[in-house]
Parts: sequence; structure tokens; C-alpha cells
Amino acid sequence: MYFHIPFCKRICAYCDFHRCADLRLIPSAIEAMHRELDASKDFLHDKQIATIYFGGGTPSLLDPVELQRFIDHAGRLFDTSAVCEITAEMNPDDITAEYISKLRQTDINRISLGVQSFDDGALRLMNRRHTGAEAADAVKRLQDAGYTNITADLIFGIEGFGIERLEGDIERMLSLGVQHISAYHLTIEPSTRFGRMAERGEFHAVAEEQSEEEFALLHNQLTEAGFEHYEVSNYALPGYRSRHNSSYWLGVEYLGIGPGAHSFNGEVRRWCEQPVAEYAEQCRYEQEQLSDTDHYNEMIMTSLRRVEGVDLAEVANRFGTERAVRLEQESRQFEGFAVVLKDGKIRIPPEKMLVSDAVIEALFDVEC
Ligand code: SF4
Repeated sequence: MYFHIPFCKRICAYCDFHRCADLRLIPSAIEAMHRELDASKDFLHDKQIATIYFGGGTPSLLDPVELQRFIDHAGRLFDTSAVCEITAEMNPDDITAEYISKLRQTDINRISLGVQSFDDGALRLMNRRHTGAEAADAVKRLQDAGYTNITADLIFGIEGFGIERLEGDIERMLSLGVQHISAYHLTIEPSTRFGRMAERGEFHAVAEEQSEEEFALLHNQLTEAGFEHYEVSNYALPGYRSRHNSSYWLGVEYLGIGPGAHSFNGEVRRWCEQPVAEYAEQCRYEQEQLSDTDHYNEMIMTSLRRVEGVDLAEVANRFGTERAVRLEQESRQFEGFAVVLKDGKIRIPPEKMLVSDAVIEALFDVEC
């Protein structure tokens, strides 16, 4: 189950998520989310919830009491007795001693911290509202309060900040002792501040060589430090993979609540992209029925992004032997440099995952 808290005090220069800087809408949006949750109680086939995730936006703009209210409400509508992981994304400068003491009263047991970098110049460029020192302090405060499952986000591939900056970030991150790291290459989306700067020629994507070098640095340093590179952008110490995100990659059903959240029940995918003020009045969904080709392409995409890869027996089982044979043949063109075919599986080795998008796209089926 996913709750999207779309509010942000300040908009980051790279962000094109569904978010809103008008914090006056928080109370009405929260109540609308509770109404949406009630109305969605029959969307999933399976009433047993395994994980809960608060994303955004900035969930830490809500009082922890409000986050717990969502957890309790979910528990009244669904079977949450087996929930093993409840994650909340947090902004480092929200992590005050007072906030943590309230957070400890909730069932949240995994914190996802939006660090992005420890370099104050890079943070300013990205319009983040915290410094590197504040991000490090936030991790320490959470650890002192007893949190033992912390993940932090890093961004790499930023023009003007070379490999030394990333080296420094990785070193600092490792010294803090987090259990999980998500590292994303910066993408310049047209609707963002970076997008507008790029249009004026004031900002650019980094050269391919820098992307490759930084990706390799991340992979090498983090795996040497004992992290498993288990998905394109995700690294975990043993036992600390994100169960919630792994469910998306495994095609498990999910219910998303809030403006900007997506839901999937095995047949239908629905989402609500309304502006927050409209959502607070009445939630309206767009939806699509997934075709056989959609299911196939989705499985290819999610499987090849994971270190486990695609199991050809599973493809044959779900989509027929002919399709499995065709997939095996098609993937041979990448064998040796981007793809490994072994033991009935097609895998992209983690160190090659930077090119996974191109490989995945080439293996997609096209709807006739
Ligand atoms: S990156 Fe996160 S904190 Fe920044 S604007 Fe986007 S949703 Fe808000």
C-alpha cells in the first residue's frame, strides 16, 4: 500500500513528481485521502497487505500522528497483521529531536532519507532545502533513536560536479552506516527548473563517459563495502532490500492513495493526476486495462532491472513457449556485452545496468 503525500516546502530543480507547494491544502488533502482509502477497500483482490510506503512529495511535512492515522485506517479495512515494512520518505531538515520522538510512537520502521548529496554546492544547485551536514546529522539522530533500517537517496551525473564530488558522497554515506542506498542518475525533464535552464543553454546533461564512470564508481565502491547491487538504482546490505519496491518489480498488486498515486490489481492500472485542490474536492481516476502485450513488456522491464533477470520458464508458463523462444533468440544479440544467458535466465549484470533501458526497449513486444 502506498500513500502519496504531495506537499513540498520548496521545489527541487530536477523534480517532475506530482507535488504541490501550497501547504494550506494539507488538511483537506489528508481528509480526501482517507475518503479515497475507504472507497478503495475492494480494489485489490488480496486483502493481505505486506508493506506500507509513504512517498511524495514530503511525508515528513505531516505530523507523525497523521501518518499513523493512515496506518490505523488501513488496518481497519485490510489485513495488515503481516505487514513487515513501513517506510516513510523524509527530508533531512524535518528530522528534529521533537519529530523523531513523535515518529517513535508510530509503526514506521524504515526511513528513506532524501540526502541526494553532501556537497553544499550541488545541494544549492538542486534547490534542496538542507545542507550536507544537516543530512548527516539527520542520519545520526535517527540511528541514535533506534532506527536500524535507513535508506538514503543519492543523485549522480550532475553537470559541473565531477567524479570527486561523487567519491566524497559515497565515502560520507558509507561512513554513516546506512543499510540501503538508492542512487539515481540525474535526468533533465522539460517541466523542471533544470529543463528550463537547459532550454536556455545554461545547464546540460553530462557526457556519456562521465555517466559511465560515475555508475561504475558507485557499483564498485558500494559492492566492495558489502552492498548488493540488486536493481538498477538500488543497493542493499544483506537482508535490507526494499520489500515494498521489490513488490512492484515482481508484479504484486498494490493500492496507491493520494494525488499522484498509482494502483494495480493485476488487470487494471489506475491513477489520479489531478491538482491537489481538485483532488481534495473529488478524486477522479484515469485507468487502463492491461493487454497481454502490456503484461509481457512489464515483466521484461521489471525483471531485467533486477539482478535476478528474466526466467525463461516463467515466460513460457505465462506467455507460451513460442514467446520464450523468441525472447531468448532476441536477447542473443546483446550476449557478451550487456546480457548473460545462463541456467534458463536472461540477466543484465549489475555493472552493465546503465544500458538496461536500451536493452529492455529492444526486447519489448510491439502491439499489432
Ligand atoms: S524531489 Fe522530493 S522534495 Fe524535491 S520537489 Fe520533488 S517531491 Fe518535493
